[in-house]
Amino acid sequence: MEDMSVITRFDPWRGKLCTCPAKYSFSPYTGCSHSCLYCYASSYIRGFSTSRPKVDLERRLLRDLAKIDRELPISMANSSDPYPPMELEVGLTRRCLSMLLPRGFKVMIITKSSIVARDVDLISKGNCAVSFTITTLDESLASIIEPKAPRPKERIKALKALSEAGVPCALRIDPIIPGLNDDEELIKRLVDEAVRAGVKHISSSTYKAKPDNFARMCRAFPDKEPYWRQLYLEEGVKIGGSTYMKESLRLQLMKMVKEIVESRGLTFSTCREGFPELTTSSTCDATHLIPVRVRPRGLG
Ligand code: SF4
Repeated sequence: MEDMSVITRFDPWRGKLCTCPAKYSFSPYTGCSHSCLYCYASSYIRGFSTSRPKVDLERRLLRDLAKIDRELPISMANSSDPYPPMELEVGLTRRCLSMLLPRGFKVMIITKSSIVARDVDLISKGNCAVSFTITTLDESLASIIEPKAPRPKERIKALKALSEAGVPCALRIDPIIPGLNDDEELIKRLVDEAVRAGVKHISSSTYKAKPDNFARMCRAFPDKEPYWRQLYLEEGVKIGGSTYMKESLRLQLMKMVKEIVESRGLTFSTCREGFPELTTSSTCDATHLIPVRVRPRGLG
């Protein structure tokens, strides 16, 4: 494992509350141009707001693939989106999927981009599931908190197209930010849209404050700053490198989402909240949705 180049064991910054099963992490791009205000990864990488294709990626990927445990899924990607707008011209993620899926590797795509639907031909034939992050259907709110990501209705359309092609899809309502997207009726609308589009599983998580994302959020929503300061900086708790709201508030929010999701007949999980008892699926990260369509074969 030591000399792996582009595939790594998944480790969410040593997050103590992570309940993910063992898996690998693979990002075709460094950085992410979606520029979400609440992004957790932006504090780790300089120049994060630009997506840059990794150099010599396919050769390095092929080399790493010879060394990994093929039983474990490859999560693509955890700290950058594999479908930034430049993917339409560059096609790097598509080329990587062309290497992974026909060879029977298990892949979980995590994205906020409708561009993923372009690759339905490859994805629907492979051992692959797709998890869409949609935090709100409110287009004007999304244009502030996720300014360069495709609009929520485009993501729902992509989810529907993939589902109709037989690709198992999950939804992440993540993060839920108090005062912005935590309204119960709006979450019901989002869940209902996703159910109509064919989603199979929904996970959720509350916003975790880090110095850089908290500053961006307060600049964009100055009227919310006193409220967030109270919830996070005064009453919140430090867990790992992030500040969480106090447990009772987080539990209340997660239970509310769980009830909505369960009432629609879907499974639910939370992400890095410390409430494993709320998870009703066999994995919290939706990797249980990955179908087995292709038997593993060699790399030649
Ligand atoms: S899509 Fe994810 S990695 Fe990219 S900016 Fe948004 S939160 Fe960060």
